[in-house]
Amino acid sequence: MATDASQPEPGYRQPTPSVEALTAILDGDHAEVRNLVRRNLVKHQALLVEAEELGIDAYRDRVRDVVLEVAATGQTALGMPTEYGGAGDVGASVAAFETMAFGDLSLLVKIGVQFGLFAGAIQQLGSRHHHDAYLPGAIDGTLLGCFAMTERGHGSDVQALGTTATYDPAADEFVITTPDDNARKDYIGNAARHAQLAVVFAQLHIDGRSEGVHAFVVPLRDGDTVRPGIRIEDSGRKLGLNGVDNGQIWFDGVRVPRSALLNRFADVSADGVYSSPIDNPNRRFFTMLGTLVLGRVSVGGGGINAAKVALAIAVRYADRRRQFSTGADEPEQLLLDYGQHQRRLLPLLARTYALHCAQEVLVKELGAVFGSDAAEEGVRRALESRAAGTKALGTWHATRTIQECREACGGAGYMARNRFAALKADTDVFTTFEGDNTVLLQLVAKGLLTGYSSDFEDLDQLGMVRFVAELAVETVIERSNIAKLFERVRDLLPGGEEWDQEAGLRDPNYQRAMLRFREEHMISGVARRLKRGVDDGMDAGEVFSRVQDHVIATARAHVERLVLDAFIDKVGALPDGEEKAALGLLVDLHALATIEADRAWFMEHGRLTVQRSKAISREVNDLCRKVRPLAVDLVDAFGIPQEVLRAEELLAWG
Ligand SMILES: Cc1cc2nc3c(=O)[nH]c(=O)nc-3n(C[C@H](O)[C@H](O)[C@H](O)COP(=O)(O)OP(=O)(O)OC[C@H]3O[C@@H](n4cnc5c(N)ncnc54)[C@H](O)[C@@H]3O)c2cc1C
Repeated sequence: MATDASQPEPGYRQPTPSVEALTAILDGDHAEVRNLVRRNLVKHQALLVEAEELGIDAYRDRVRDVVLEVAATGQTALGMPTEYGGAGDVGASVAAFETMAFGDLSLLVKIGVQFGLFAGAIQQLGSRHHHDAYLPGAIDGTLLGCFAMTERGHGSDVQALGTTATYDPAADEFVITTPDDNARKDYIGNAARHAQLAVVFAQLHIDGRSEGVHAFVVPLRDGDTVRPGIRIEDSGRKLGLNGVDNGQIWFDGVRVPRSALLNRFADVSADGVYSSPIDNPNRRFFTMLGTLVLGRVSVGGGGINAAKVALAIAVRYADRRRQFSTGADEPEQLLLDYGQHQRRLLPLLARTYALHCAQEVLVKELGAVFGSDAAEEGVRRALESRAAGTKALGTWHATRTIQECREACGGAGYMARNRFAALKADTDVFTTFEGDNTVLLQLVAKGLLTGYSSDFEDLDQLGMVRFVAELAVETVIERSNIAKLFERVRDLLPGGEEWDQEAGLRDPNYQRAMLRFREEHMISGVARRLKRGVDDGMDAGEVFSRVQDHVIATARAHVERLVLDAFIDKVGALPDGEEKAALGLLVDLHALATIEADRAWFMEHGRLTVQRSKAISREVNDLCRKVRPLAVDLVDAFGIPQEVLRAEELLAWG
């Protein structure tokens, strides 16, 4: 039973949104595709149970079979070119992938490996003859492949890979070799059991010269038999995703024809002359990697949608489950009527909606860049940065949300049939693959500090320090010096030095201004510290290491600002009505909970008084109480089919 303190203020009218209308808002431009995926998920719901019951090889084979069945519906080809049976619609392909994250996540990841990484690398890095040779089979699933980039010795630092591809002009072939055990390919999805072919990333050597990392198509198996010169071992049982056959691969002088080089960005002539339209090797490398941005966008979206599953179960359970009564004659109280339970779940629910909107903006930008050959380099770099940041925040959010929701369901949350066991285990690695989150945030910071300058790709980490210290610091500080910063936030929120002390906490301009102030203040602070370190004669590596926590906090502040902007913009653009009113509460809850979470910083930097900080906490509590009656509708709006939610005993409790 709700207590008096949980009653909203007089005059407040509770919005009454329609679940269908909210779903339509979330599904956006791709409702049809999302519904196709929902139907496929219901059709293959048994996989969620089989994942718990089958032995590892049987589970992997079953996942492979379902991948092929799903491929036959056209769902996995949406992003591929139309001439190869796809729909040429990258936005639709991400929408499909995200929605697939409602179901078994081994299935999701196997789809990602086959159609995103393997087929995607051939499409993005190869030429017409590669497309003709491999895309039809890769798209219909008759040619299974893997994406062999990571090695035991190097995961995040791909430029330092050890595998070599040495050109032999006499035979017109490349020779692929694993020089030592650190260069073995590791954790490669599809490798242990199913892949016939691999896209292998290796250092290209010609006539004793190294031309850097390039990608080659290398056959791995004939049927079930591993080809000569290749050794493959199973990576073994993993924390999760055991329906995916990850493996290790060694190459011992494996010969492939010259045409095996995926040569969109660089080629080798028969007589061994290397050519590339991109002169600078660093830039070439980052341009090549940049084309693979789709995987990152997809994994981020997958993480956000996995968080929705956890919230859908935990919120609905909390709306039925009772513990403790407030008095002898009182009925037991619903979990969701407890202030702390609201505090645990509802800001996470609001953040999930916010991240969903940020992901939507990202996917739109992705569509625009992929749809245009003429997209400027700066625009591409900004997209990569946005993808990196959204992936990092989205997947960390998934890990945190799933854990909180598991605990919120008590012991029942620990039972495999209630989904959290697999959700936790399977999403955990989302923070690591497709780019480790911490490393990705450094990429975001690099873009911020260099302003996505034309030199962006030429710079490694240390180059970035020197660039900022020598060339960019004035620009960065000028862009974000305190006086300018005040001007900028005053555009959002008129006022003097006290611009932030008078504004209403629920004014979206106040919320935007606070996050913008934090971001820009941090950028200029980092730039100054980098410059000071270099000026003091410290070497660039040491300077970077000392400032690294600040660098990463800056990137996070930037992405949090993008997320809030996306959410405010999306809700602001809705027609007035019940849905807008309901989502408006979520915007406020998300914005104020975000400021509250970093209140120490805002207080340290004079932007929050003690009184105002306390007022924000009171407001967050108040918003939780207002969102509480809407919470079940808000999770129902995710449109997760009951059949894949499972957790029947929790959802029908009481
Ligand atoms: C289940 C699974 C499936 C995978 N599938 C594939 C696949 O199909 N194909 C493929 O090529 N790869 C795959 N990977 C590999 C994955 O992409 C790598 O694990 C990932 O890129 C991280 O590399 P690493 O493991 O070498 O970690 P490392 O790079 O060694 O990182 C370890 C830790 O050090 C930190 N760190 C690293 N560098 C820095 C730095 N400069 N500053 C501060 N901190 C730093 C990171 O934040 C991280 O916490 C898979 C991995 C797993 C677990």
